Amino acid sequence: MSTFKAPKGTYDLLPPDSAKYLAVRAAIAAPLRDSGYGYIETPGFENVELFARGVGESTDIVTKEMYAFETKGGDRLALRPEGTASVLRAALESNLHKTGNLPVKLWYSGSYYRYERPQKGRYRHFSQVGAEAIGAEDPALDAELIILADQAYRSLGLSRFRILLNSLGDKECRPVYRAALQGFLRGLDLDEDTLRRADINPLRVLDDKRPEVQKQLTDAPLLRDYLCDACTAYHDEVRELITAAGVAFEDDPKLVRGLDYYTRTTFEFVHDGLGSQSAVGGGGRYDGLSEMIGGPALPSVGWALGVDRTVLALEAEGVELDLPATTSVFAVPLGEEARRVLFAKVTELRKNGVAADFAYGGKGLKGAMKSAHRSGARYAIVAGERDLAEGVVQLKDMESGEQRAIGVNEIVAELESRLG
Ligand code: ATP
Ligand code: MG
Repeated sequence: MSTFKAPKGTYDLLPPDSAKYLAVRAAIAAPLRDSGYGYIETPGFENVELFARGVGESTDIVTKEMYAFETKGGDRLALRPEGTASVLRAALESNLHKTGNLPVKLWYSGSYYRYERPQKGRYRHFSQVGAEAIGAEDPALDAELIILADQAYRSLGLSRFRILLNSLGDKECRPVYRAALQGFLRGLDLDEDTLRRADINPLRVLDDKRPEVQKQLTDAPLLRDYLCDACTAYHDEVRELITAAGVAFEDDPKLVRGLDYYTRTTFEFVHDGLGSQSAVGGGGRYDGLSEMIGGPALPSVGWALGVDRTVLALEAEGVELDLPATTSVFAVPLGEEARRVLFAKVTELRKNGVAADFAYGGKGLKGAMKSAHRSGARYAIVAGERDLAEGVVQLKDMESGEQRAIGVNEIVAELESRLG
């Protein structure tokens, strides 16, 4: 062991487990790529003000969880705590929205950083795959994103997740509701911090996890009863489209999300096998965000799914991903000439698209065969001086144990045909 350990709340992803993370990311991305979403990558840090405005001054993310710092050059930056603000910033900066082809549909995958109390499913460095559809107000777009996330989870073999759905209203109806909720909250027995929150962003009080707060919220007014006609019609259409797609969801009239910028459609994916860190992903419509960060009006919708919690959900459901062995052929040379010959064969196999590996480090037969087994390879090719003198190598089927001599010049074609 070295003197150093990974920082608190972080983890190293190591083989073979790391393959699961790659597979989860790929599975979430696949339906997006097939649906017109283009890949976007943004920096790991941004101007701190982008998150203050784009995530919200009163959110836990900005007030408590952000890694903000000043550079040697005096810039105030923050490690990104989430993806949406950065993606929208990048789209606006490069004028993607002006190409006359809205919505701009983007997907991303990366690391995010929040200074939280580490526990299972909650880390200080974690991984998300997300999608954003920028610049269109269309219930079919909200429905598309929910359906694609559902498809991604199902393709992984998950079934014990639920989709919670709500509408947060818009700039017409939300202020009326906000005032009504504030009136209600002022009459409750709340601590000073929570009362202050009720002043700045009363909807977020609904999201308070403490039982002593939740208990008092049973009779809180519901946004549902305040939605304007346009928001009601919009929400009904989203619900109809998702239902028609055969995707089950639950109406959750109290669902609000941690970020300030959500409007109308809001949703969360929860998994019932995860204990208290049950949210595997979430998202919604954020029609006001672009203007909040200095852009034009660009109604948009998106989600982010947590890769870490998705992996935990797979474990909770006992799903074994069908991960193909990384190596198909393992070469075991005995002696110097065999090293040269088999190394050349391995290179040739790789060029022809066959995953192949080699016993490095001059191991003896026993140690090398152990490595061959560990690699998960279907076949081993073994050659010593006598084999080469006869112009052959030994082809060993690692499953049946059966072994036969194959001509040195035929081995690549033979393996290609066997591995089909
Ligand atoms: P929570 O209420 O659990 O803190 P959140 O609302 O802060 O979640 P979002 O900002 O919506 O989470 O992020 C989307 C997803 O990213 C979450 O559903 C979760 O799967 C994942 N996620 C968020 N924070 C963390 C974290 N600290 N560690 C691991 N995964 C996380
Ligand atoms: Mg959080």
